[in-house]
Amino acid sequence: MVCISYRMAAWLRHLIVCTFLLSVYVLLHILVVPTVYATTLAQQPLVEQSPTERFTPTVGPDGAPIDLPPQPIIRRSTLRALSNTEISVPANRAQPINIAPEPAYLIGDGPWIPGTRVAKTKRLDLYIGAHTFSKEEIAAAAPLIEQALRDAEIAFGTTLRQRVSIGFYHPSASPMEDVRGLAYTEDRHAQVFYRTGEDLNRAIVVAAHELGHQLEQERYGIDVQRRADTILHEGVATWVVSAHWLEMQGSTDWKSHARTLNASGVPLQLVTAENYGANNAYELWASFVDFLIEDYGTETVDALYISGRGRAHGSADYQGITGKSLDELADEWRAWVHE
Ligand SMILES: [Zn+2]
Repeated sequence: MVCISYRMAAWLRHLIVCTFLLSVYVLLHILVVPTVYATTLAQQPLVEQSPTERFTPTVGPDGAPIDLPPQPIIRRSTLRALSNTEISVPANRAQPINIAPEPAYLIGDGPWIPGTRVAKTKRLDLYIGAHTFSKEEIAAAAPLIEQALRDAEIAFGTTLRQRVSIGFYHPSASPMEDVRGLAYTEDRHAQVFYRTGEDLNRAIVVAAHELGHQLEQERYGIDVQRRADTILHEGVATWVVSAHWLEMQGSTDWKSHARTLNASGVPLQLVTAENYGANNAYELWASFVDFLIEDYGTETVDALYISGRGRAHGSADYQGITGKSLDELADEWRAWVHE
């Protein structure tokens, strides 16, 4: 009995000491650790959230957006003024508000499409079919396409939110004749058609243009893009890749490029532009978008795009939004080109 009582007393002492130590430990964590953690957070640099990430389209009862996205389209001239070093953010300064943050790696796979997957970048899965570019060529082009996407995002102020797959195939695989690229934006994949030995740099620009359509869908929503006026649908997707497209054509800006086209015999017409080839039409429409951004602003371009009533050329509500008909705007655009 004595022995048991002695042991019990020892256990009780042990228990009291342990409880005391545990209480001190818990108290220290409650009082001290949050302070240390808060100090650590305060020392981290402030990273501003891009307006792009805050944008969620407001959709009315008929499925049409009833509000404009808040993020600005950055003028191409602004983009051209930014070198890579200027984009990097000093450690002690907040990120400029109109530059989207470096996008994160999008995990998972893009949609599976025909062919063999030969490269994977941060946001893109790249495939090849038969008799087109080689595995090595597309692997080398992959970071350039990712960079072209990034440049388009910075110009447009809209960021890709889900992975996209791009397939490179022989032109005979195209469902339409004389088409170099197709974007299936709702299925998040695009197809580019080139033969073995053709110009890979041009194929990269075509791939970037198709990604421009993907960014239009991100910015305006599926329903709006589906009924967008072709002039703006193709004009905006070409304008967002301005730097790469103009470099490919040896031009510096859309105004002088439209002048060059006109001097070579292409009339400055918007509705009938495709009579002189799809390429010329896309470039004239991109110059029209450039004119609209310069003279009417990005909000007007957004509103015009959203007002589209179908793929017909000129279906957007130009009169209702700008107070001028498409013909009157085209007159202003022609004068702008020849300034
Ligand atoms: Zn297009």
